[in-house]
Amino acid sequence: MYLQNKPRITNLWSKVVGGENEKWLTRVTVESTGPYKFTLKEVSGGFSLECSGVEINMPEGRLEVNDGLLRDISIERAGNDTARVELFLDHPAECAYVLYNDFPCRLVLNLNRDFIKGLLSGKRIVVDPGHGGKNLGGRGQVSLLEKDVVIPIANNLERNLKKAGAEVLLTRRTDKDVPLDGRAALATNANADAFISIHTNASADRSDVGAATLYSPHDNGSRELAVYIQKEIIKKLRVKDRGITIQQGLGCVSKEIPAVEVEVVTITNIVEEVFLRGLTIQERAAEGITNGLIKYFACGGPGAKGDTK
Ligand SMILES: [Zn+2]
Repeated sequence: MYLQNKPRITNLWSKVVGGENEKWLTRVTVESTGPYKFTLKEVSGGFSLECSGVEINMPEGRLEVNDGLLRDISIERAGNDTARVELFLDHPAECAYVLYNDFPCRLVLNLNRDFIKGLLSGKRIVVDPGHGGKNLGGRGQVSLLEKDVVIPIANNLERNLKKAGAEVLLTRRTDKDVPLDGRAALATNANADAFISIHTNASADRSDVGAATLYSPHDNGSRELAVYIQKEIIKKLRVKDRGITIQQGLGCVSKEIPAVEVEVVTITNIVEEVFLRGLTIQERAAEGITNGLIKYFACGGPGAKGDTK
């Protein structure tokens, strides 16, 4: 049976690797049972990999990635014995490949994330985990506290932003309350490019669910930043979209600095409380906020100061 000798593509995935002092890459891996001929072409909005003399032995279609650079990957049959893998990008990138001819055989496509680095490098972002100490914030039905869960999300956000070359300042790292004006002063004194406060929603109605992003009343790009973050966080968390709204309290952050408050999910809903305890959602929330910031700086929204300081 000659068909059985034909190599088969069995798996396709992507991962962000490196960052900070290493090369920062989106790495797409195409796994197969053996080598085949391929050509890699740059096309509008991404790259196309044509693989010939190969079968697809995995579900065909599009996979959402949304890692800030790579939006989707797709794999489909493109005629007899030919498979097409497409990479759809949000920003320009160079792509280099490495072939590992082992079993399984892996074709690795490395997309460099320098464009995003260019956007965030030198930007100073203040990340503000809400509440702390005696100021508990919201409390879940199974006793998860808002003041605790915002810390790992802030830490993940700090790590992501540093990989992208940004400078990150946290208003607190430990379980202590910081007065609101102290949080705002940190951003002002640092001449920050953005202030991101991390919270969860709390509601007396325990059936309330979802994520929202609140923004400063100053007309300084805060609303635009909220739009981007809200959109990206919903893509990552797949929870109910509670939209964006003004938060007068954020007005204490300097007029010069776009400021938002992200209510990641609703801690008082038992399903979302359980969800919120997971490390995956804590990472995904941070990724959503990071992607929103990337989109914001890519569009140079009002208040985006560029690299002038
Ligand atoms: Zn809060």
